[in-house]
Amino acid sequence: MRVADLPALAAIAHEHGAKLIVDNTFSPVTITPALHGADVVIHSLTKFINGASDIIAGCLCANGDFIDGMYDLHTGSLMLLGPTMDPRAAYEVATRLPNLGLRMTAHAERALAYAKRLEALGANVVYPGLSSHPDYALFRRLANPGYGSGGLLSVDFGSTARANRFMEHLQNTEDFGYMAVSLGFSDTLMSASASSTSSELDEGALQAAGISPGWVRLSAGYTGRLEDRLAQLERGYRAAL
Ligand SMILES: *Cc1c(COP(=O)(O)O)cnc(C)c1O
Repeated sequence: MRVADLPALAAIAHEHGAKLIVDNTFSPVTITPALHGADVVIHSLTKFINGASDIIAGCLCANGDFIDGMYDLHTGSLMLLGPTMDPRAAYEVATRLPNLGLRMTAHAERALAYAKRLEALGANVVYPGLSSHPDYALFRRLANPGYGSGGLLSVDFGSTARANRFMEHLQNTEDFGYMAVSLGFSDTLMSASASSTSSELDEGALQAAGISPGWVRLSAGYTGRLEDRLAQLERGYRAAL
């Protein structure tokens, strides 16, 4: 949940004649990397952009020459890797684009409310919209005004057992959300990164990446009444202690 300093990275890349490629899957609409020096921006459409966890797709955004080069019949990488999305999937993703800004704002409002409540309960919570976040000022500089600070936050429970108690209580007792490694759904999704999305890393690599076994990543959904969700979240937090 750290924030990449895109202008600084673009300066380093361009100084060495390289392109800066940014994976903006976590922050579509929230941040527009092309405004901060990115040459190529990639998204998993599977997450926030599609938003319904029912389509697997991706996209690559760059200038026309770059894209045309990838489609070159003889040397283009996309000719080998398969550039063409299923048209029905492409159409369905396109129908969801008009409300992406509204959804990102709703995700961000929930994420901020959850982060503030967890912080007030004494949790070690990381969310770039909290002034306690080390990259708070950088995020505000990069973010498009009016869309908040994204839908993802993380909380450190100190151990895998506590992290699992938190998630299992919220899923099985409260119907607060689902334990799943994806993100960007209308309901809240929760995963312990060390034992799921980053489980291929050994202990040393996890430590170097700052992923302790008790970290839970939450992708804040926007369903349900905020007051009810905050009460559920608080009970989940207490159940984990
Ligand atoms: C999930 C994810 C991907 C891969 O996307 P798929 O659509 O699942 O292939 C790439 N980058 C980030 C940051 C992701 O979260």
